[in-house]
Amino acid sequence: MKICIIGGGIVGCAAAYFLSKSGHSVELFEKDTIGSHASGFALGSLLPPSAPKEEPIAMLSDLSLQLHAEIAELSVRNGLSTDFRKKSSIVLATTPSKCEELKNLSERHASDLTSKYRWLEPTELSHIEARITDKVMGGLYFDGSYEVDSRSICFSLWQMAEQKGADLNNSNVEELEIINGSVKGVRTNKGSFDFDYVIVAAGPWTKPLLQTVGINVPVNPQKGQILRLKPIGPDIDVSIWWEGNYITSKPDGLIWLGTTEEDIGFNENVTEFGRDTIIQSAADIFPFVKSLDLVKQTACLRPVTPDLQPVIEDLSYLIKGLIVCSGGSRNGILFGPAMGLLASEMILSQQTSIEISNWSINRFEN
Ligand SMILES: Cc1cc2nc3c(=O)[nH]c(=O)nc-3n(C[C@H](O)[C@H](O)[C@H](O)COP(=O)(O)OP(=O)(O)OC[C@H]3O[C@@H](n4cnc5c(N)ncnc54)[C@H](O)[C@@H]3O)c2cc1C
Repeated sequence: MKICIIGGGIVGCAAAYFLSKSGHSVELFEKDTIGSHASGFALGSLLPPSAPKEEPIAMLSDLSLQLHAEIAELSVRNGLSTDFRKKSSIVLATTPSKCEELKNLSERHASDLTSKYRWLEPTELSHIEARITDKVMGGLYFDGSYEVDSRSICFSLWQMAEQKGADLNNSNVEELEIINGSVKGVRTNKGSFDFDYVIVAAGPWTKPLLQTVGINVPVNPQKGQILRLKPIGPDIDVSIWWEGNYITSKPDGLIWLGTTEEDIGFNENVTEFGRDTIIQSAADIFPFVKSLDLVKQTACLRPVTPDLQPVIEDLSYLIKGLIVCSGGSRNGILFGPAMGLLASEMILSQQTSIEISNWSINRFEN
């Protein structure tokens, strides 16, 4: 069987890794380099959604966290590293309504002795991070989150796939080639190539690619910027979140501060506006950030769907041999390994580790 994967982000690299273990011929097409877009610049926080454990999104998250741990171990055995580690999180309450919402969440879990949630009053919060302003009304501590180096996990997955025989084709897929309702292959800037299966794991470029064969998948680019700052004082050993923003110390020795949500198309430029917005939001909570030196500013594109959940589907009912796996939105690094595994399972066994019907493109009709 000849399998083509379009996209060398975390999803494509994970799919390549799982498929290459099967012994089939795997070729990954990447227009730039492995991990050169969102998957190489994301924060790498693995913060599971707070959904009940029987909900599909919680099952996807659990499966993926388990895979992150396995991939981390295998990487080390292969002389590689993903920098996977446990890292607790705190979600801050900056408004009375957020305070109530977070306290309720903590109370819902209170009877569960294994609960990883704990409400922190402002004084308890200040014992963990003394530099938080007293405007904050408390925070929800969560002991079930992890962190990874997003670029390193892409490289680890790809190198392990390559060791098992996967090939990298550094070209831009311009069109999917279809014959009699089945995938024939792909046409790139370097020529045409034939395949039995094509997995589209092209992040935010998934939509324009599938439009070439008349399939509408509403995965849109959303720009997010991050600042890396030179620290003063102690590290921030937890990930601290508020209103979609975050601050934490990373293994590169810098403080990472994010982020923006900019719906302005395929634009990956860093901007002064992005920098100022991030600093302003953070300075309201952590006044000390204003005095930190900026070392690096990055921008990249999240593949976002209208409901912020991924699209993972065998589209053979439209075009035989076509699979889509994208739309990880703000959790693509968390979900990436599971998304890659599920894509591989759709080809290898037609049976998936978890139920995937929730992530069909049909949910977006109308
Ligand atoms: C600022 C920011 C911070 C983030 N932080 C986190 C976080 O902490 N935790 C988390 O879980 N998620 C986070 N995310 C989200 C996460 O980064 C993405 O959801 C995830 O990286 C998407 O992975 P992907 O493989 O689907 O897409 P991408 O990483 O975009 O990879 C797609 C690849 O496909 C290639 N490609 C596209 N079209 C073609 C073509 N036609 N031919 C050949 N190659 C093609 C591209 O060049 C690209 O390399 C963050 C995102 C941003 C922007």
